[in-house]
Amino acid sequence: EFENRNRIYEMNREAALFFYSNLIKKENKGLEYLKERKVDLSTIKKFGLGYAENQWEALNNYLLKKGYTQEMILSAGLVLKRNQKDGCYDRFRNRIIFPIINTTGKVIGFGGRALGDEQPKYLNSPETSVFNKGRNLYGLNTAKKVLGKEKRMIVVEGYMDVISLSQRGISNVVASLGTALTKEQAALLKRYTDEVYIAYDGDSAGQAAALRGLEVLGEAGCDVKVVIFTQGKDPDEIITKKGKKVFLDELEGALSLIDYKITLVKKENDLTTIEGRIKFVKAIAEIIKQLKSPVEVDAYIKKISIEAQISEDAIKTEIYGNNRYNQ
Ligand code: ATP
Ligand code: MN
Ligand code: MN
Ligand code: MN
Repeated sequence: EFENRNRIYEMNREAALFFYSNLIKKENKGLEYLKERKVDLSTIKKFGLGYAENQWEALNNYLLKKGYTQEMILSAGLVLKRNQKDGCYDRFRNRIIFPIINTTGKVIGFGGRALGDEQPKYLNSPETSVFNKGRNLYGLNTAKKVLGKEKRMIVVEGYMDVISLSQRGISNVVASLGTALTKEQAALLKRYTDEVYIAYDGDSAGQAAALRGLEVLGEAGCDVKVVIFTQGKDPDEIITKKGKKVFLDELEGALSLIDYKITLVKKENDLTTIEGRIKFVKAIAEIIKQLKSPVEVDAYIKKISIEAQISEDAIKTEIYGNNRYNQ
């Protein structure tokens, strides 16, 4: 079993090298695509990016020739069984390849991006004996090297966000591999840092995932903040189109859990109406109830009282009920 896993790591490395040499050996659509997205050669090298050509059996034949068995190539998720006839075909075709490398430097899986609007936009390795999506973070192998110099870690959604930020000198970045952040990923991060910034996409899916990420990371004992982007849809787009300063400014505006929740509740309610202000205060009261520090409680009650134009006393009663003095 252990021998088998080592053999898969080794084969995955061969596959990564195969994809990489496809990308850099000559002009090809993959390189063209990355050029258009402003990814430069040193970044391609740093992350070992590759290109899967538009062929059905290129990788499979290559690995068979190297002496790997069909069974093993299948078990690594690199190929799929044909339906009608015998044999296997490559899982990744005509895609940019992102090798996923764990903290010990082993290639555990791959992500592949379509060059155009083909669906699915991203295709990832399936779960295998060496790849568990929920237990790994894309980019952690490179990000961990700059921790120390950088105190905090930035968590983004996508491969391209990690790569694009790194190319512009921001290397303390990892991606959660498309899933909502898991407990295992939070625990893994906690081993490297206590301070995490969630910088997910600005769309509603990203913002919902950010809220869950805040809670999971908070439970893992991290000090967490969330960035709400206003200058573009994701970190890659912002830093590529608007530049590093704009991105860093957005980062500095990151909100704590409570401030983030207040922002969400504020968006949901119209504070120009009485009804909206009442709903707003009731929702915030629920959030304030969860705060442990009395100083924080007091500060937020003051803040909400001003925003909603409702007395601090009324808000306190909303939170504690009428018998709060007897507690
Ligand atoms: P790009 O900038 O290349 O369009 P992105 O990283 O901004 O890509 P998103 O749609 O924001 O793409 O998705 C974020 C991440 O979620 C991707 O990097 C990928 O890991 C994962 N993902 C997106 N779409 C899929 C999909 N169809 N299947 C599996 N994973 C996906
Ligand atoms: Mn997204
Ligand atoms: Mn995105
Ligand atoms: Mn993007």
